[in-house]
Amino acid sequence: MIIDRECCIGCGQCLPYCPAGAISLAESDVAVIDFDRCVECGVCLRMKVCPQGAIYQQELAWPRVIRSHYSDPTARHPETGLMGRGTMEMKSNDVTGRYRSGEVGFGVELGRPGVSTSMKDVEKVAMALAAVGVEWEVKGNPTTYLMSDRNTGRLREDILEERVLSAIIEFKAPSSKLGEILEALDRVSRDIDTVFSVSMITKVEPDGSIPNVEKAQSMGYKVLPNPKINVGLGRPLFDFTGNGGKS
Ligand code: SF4
Ligand code: SF4
Repeated sequence: MIIDRECCIGCGQCLPYCPAGAISLAESDVAVIDFDRCVECGVCLRMKVCPQGAIYQQELAWPRVIRSHYSDPTARHPETGLMGRGTMEMKSNDVTGRYRSGEVGFGVELGRPGVSTSMKDVEKVAMALAAVGVEWEVKGNPTTYLMSDRNTGRLREDILEERVLSAIIEFKAPSSKLGEILEALDRVSRDIDTVFSVSMITKVEPDGSIPNVEKAQSMGYKVLPNPKINVGLGRPLFDFTGNGGKS
């Protein structure tokens, strides 16, 4: 995003709208956008706060355009065709069947409004997880598409300088790796300059018990169960029964 210095009157009305804290008033009493901190979310323009019409969107070329893909809720990720962070998100598991018994799924969400994240930090977390040996979510997650090497979790070199409001890494692994994964996340959290939240996805057993929770709790993590239930608005894409759905 760019502010036309000739039109800006320095009223400051746009400043509080920026979730990345990228707009400030320069000594010359005009607003300026920190090009590195701006995540191209489009909020300042969409909110129509500028009385002068001084804010405008420049053409976003690769790789800068990924800022918009991740940060502007009205933009679509070309890889998944989805808006926002561009993931189908694990909450749809009843329909997609990504995570099965004996497995644990994860969504690691880096950045937040007011904080944001660099793609370098996204890479650090992805590499820490790759070292444990995880299976990335491919189809429904745009971050996986940005990996140049899925074995190491390394991202494409040309996007590492980009900054986004938030990005989600999604993957699954056998439940036996849960401890290693949480340890890896704990270690890498000290090497990055942003925040992340961790969603753990697990399929409830027929007897109502919830696997993986006890292990996470034994490692000192507070688990807040958050069920997502398919109430019949989606047709399952996966046969959970293993016998052609004839049970
Ligand atoms: S596009 Fe978003 S991040 Fe960039 S200056 Fe506007 S509100 Fe801030
Ligand atoms: S709202 Fe418009 S005129 Fe006011 S400081 Fe921001 S860019 Fe300048």
